[in-house]
Amino acid sequence: MSLDGRPRPGEDRDSAPWWKAVREHELLVQECGDCGRPRFPARAVCNRCRSLAWTWRRSRGTGRVYSWVVNHRAFLPGLADEVPYTVVLVRLDEGAEHDDDLLFYGDLVDFDAAELREGLPVEAVFTDVPGEPATTLVRWRPRR
Ligand SMILES: [Zn+2]
Repeated sequence: MSLDGRPRPGEDRDSAPWWKAVREHELLVQECGDCGRPRFPARAVCNRCRSLAWTWRRSRGTGRVYSWVVNHRAFLPGLADEVPYTVVLVRLDEGAEHDDDLLFYGDLVDFDAAELREGLPVEAVFTDVPGEPATTLVRWRPRR
């Protein structure tokens, strides 16, 4: 499967460190410097305590499928040779431990259609995509 035709993610001030870590095959979440609440996607202010203090910390990269969609139509020309493909919404385990949602989207790979269900345990995998600019995708696969 060629991923060259995929659109590239856009980085901004808040997400640039996250994308840099992804290129090094690390999944990060922000952690509030005052109340300790993890959060994703990157943002400047804590939803719980309004603190502007935060750090990045490495995530275990495990979660469970919350929802999904199977795309049978290529909405972009670069995806034409990939249909059908499955995009999952994953709730990170670390979010659930803090009674909060840390939600990630990504392709589901290395799976059988029969095992796809809500609550399926998954883990993050990283796929390097060559081209200009080179990038890395966060994808998900069932935990074995
Ligand atoms: Zn906080």
